[in-house]
Amino acid sequence: MSERQKIGVLGATGSVGCNVLDLINSQPERFEIEYLTGGKNVDLLIHQARTYCPKYVVIQDESKFSILKDALSSLPIEIHAGDQAIADITTIKTDRVVASIVGVAGLRPILNAIPHTKIIAIANKEPLVAAGSLVMEKAAQHGTKILPVDSEHNAIFQVFEEHNRAYIKRIVLTASGGPFRTWSKEKIAAATIQDSLKHPNWTMGQKISVDSATLVNKSLELIEAHHLFSMSQDKIDIVIHPQSIIHSLVEYEDGSYLAQLGAADMRTPLAYALSWPHRMQTSGARLDLLSSPALTFEDVDHEKFPSVNLARKCLKAGQAACIAFNAANEVAVDAFLNERIGFRDILPIIEKALQNQNVMPLSDLESILEQDRSVRAAAQSYIV
Ligand code: NDP
Ligand code: MG
Repeated sequence: MSERQKIGVLGATGSVGCNVLDLINSQPERFEIEYLTGGKNVDLLIHQARTYCPKYVVIQDESKFSILKDALSSLPIEIHAGDQAIADITTIKTDRVVASIVGVAGLRPILNAIPHTKIIAIANKEPLVAAGSLVMEKAAQHGTKILPVDSEHNAIFQVFEEHNRAYIKRIVLTASGGPFRTWSKEKIAAATIQDSLKHPNWTMGQKISVDSATLVNKSLELIEAHHLFSMSQDKIDIVIHPQSIIHSLVEYEDGSYLAQLGAADMRTPLAYALSWPHRMQTSGARLDLLSSPALTFEDVDHEKFPSVNLARKCLKAGQAACIAFNAANEVAVDAFLNERIGFRDILPIIEKALQNQNVMPLSDLESILEQDRSVRAAAQSYIV
């Protein structure tokens, strides 16, 4: 057996992070963990650190530093805390990094990691929405491979024939339609937190679950696909596929569709991202073709879910609009989850932020983050 791969996991305590560790745990001869990072969940991070004994553990919430340090004092693990420490840890050399922090908070760590790793598996879509060109250009400069983890983009990656790029007619992103696909506009407006967290097919973190309910998730994925595959948005379509079995498709000019199918289990795309260009055995859920439901497809109902067209407008308008779309959504979803606004208020906050933003010149990471902060402050001010 060849040497074990050194892995860094950003956002280890989240839904994606736990799935990554589950896969790594199943093949300890193949992987060793260099670093783990968490946000606030110190108990889970302690448990993970004891299980995997990485060289470094970083917690974003500095108030939890001493709890973490005391709990791990008997182990040979270096402990750090804070945003800067998370950004710094990615300058440790690894073979692969899994980026699974939620939100634009993951942008700086991803950019810092690029020169110090061969492969970055990115689940964390918000940095790609806000700064996709910067991430892809830096990765190309350093010869670092970006592997998509988001199930749709991972599916496309598996069937995208780069050598036949000229014959790709379009990419089709599938969407489950979320928990409110069949609800009336009036019923959706009154949706509660519990309603919006009940995704029909996937178990995920809270923010992406709410994003799936507004279809903002698919809107972010449209922008994400544009950057990951360098495709113009008129070649990216979205189709509702309530069974979440076909995870996305590429249509070629000869009439062929290539698609990736499977059960709705993030361990499948994650396994591919951990083992590419090879594959690995997983204990994840399996698609049973004989008992699978019929596969159906529908158009997006843009009246009930205006976010997809809004994202298309942002892509046309440019990077500042994409930053604003994402930042205002992060603020609005957080306010919704903290019972400060209703479900119906999320989209209007994004729209207002887009109408009112002051666009600054965007030349580098700092100016992107400054633009993001200014939209967040404006969006906060709309929440009374
Ligand atoms: P979770 O909320 O479950 O996990 C987020 C992780 O990021 C946790 O480890 C959390 O720490 C950490 N974190 C939160 N805020 C910060 C911060 N400011 N700085 C550093 N770390 C932070 O999210 P998911 O795992 O569901 O999603 C992660 C990313 O992957 C998102 O961008 C999402 O859109 C994307 N994605 C997720 C999928 C899924 O199946 N869940 C599918 C496809 C994409 P803690 O919990 O300790 O506070
Ligand atoms: Mg997805």
